[in-house]
Amino acid sequence: MPHLSDTAMVGAVVEWFGQEARDLPWRSPECSPWGVLVSEVMLQQTPVVRVDPVWREWMERWPTPADLAATPQAEAVRAWGRLGYPRRAMRLRDCAIALVADHAGEVPRTTAELRALPGIGEYTAAAVRAFAFGEHDVVLDTNVRRVIGRAWHARPLPAAHLTRPERDHAASLVPEGARASALWNAGAMELGALVCTARAPRCEACVLAPSCAWVAAGAPGLDQAPRRTQAWHGTDRQVRGRVLALLRAAQGPVTVTGHASLEDVAPGQLDRCLESLVVDGLVTLVSEDRGAYAL
Ligand code: SF4
Repeated sequence: MPHLSDTAMVGAVVEWFGQEARDLPWRSPECSPWGVLVSEVMLQQTPVVRVDPVWREWMERWPTPADLAATPQAEAVRAWGRLGYPRRAMRLRDCAIALVADHAGEVPRTTAELRALPGIGEYTAAAVRAFAFGEHDVVLDTNVRRVIGRAWHARPLPAAHLTRPERDHAASLVPEGARASALWNAGAMELGALVCTARAPRCEACVLAPSCAWVAAGAPGLDQAPRRTQAWHGTDRQVRGRVLALLRAAQGPVTVTGHASLEDVAPGQLDRCLESLVVDGLVTLVSEDRGAYAL
């Protein structure tokens, strides 16, 4: 089995990406840094197919941070639709407000400035720097970690937490030069999303297969790895989503308790979810007497 050097493996991924990359709107050269930032926040916990239409709508309505900053929070939450984890809509709006207040409505390009923005963590800052500005950075999402873990270390799945040695090794693979590094980051991410998937990697279609440590080791451990199944039906997250959907669809305040669409939810659970939505600032109690809520 031929074994490629690190540089050749990285180059193979970059070349594959050049041929196979999905044509996504936030990858267009015309996409603004703001568009990239919004896409990265949306993509954190939601797949591309669901993000795509919502991102387009957001960019149409709020093409700049100033446009979103001037919008009521309820509108942003409403336009978040069913992307899930709707606190991200609030944080994006807070981020837009901070961009207007502190950066003249522009997305900054240094890690420190990005990390100081609401809702922007280590990963998102690196992704914005790499994809919006072509900066040399290490972008380590779960897809990239899985590809590197398998191809270089024969690990079936990444550990729950990123370790220093893992980060250092990932950093050592990022090629010199802004363009090459951005292509490697995006390519490794795309390979993990499309080919080296968590449960059913398509090694026969993978450019790294000739040198992949995990394949060479006989592809061990995947069937024993614990599945991260998330019970969804009946959870507080699901009920919160249903309440938000109800309020999004309404033109004015809605009396939530006793509403026909939520009658299967136990009163205690509904109260708990309403309370947490209010605490999170996603929902407002408009009338205590009527139990009426609005976005
Ligand atoms: S050969 Fe298989 S396990 Fe190795 S990187 Fe490619 S898809 Fe992943």
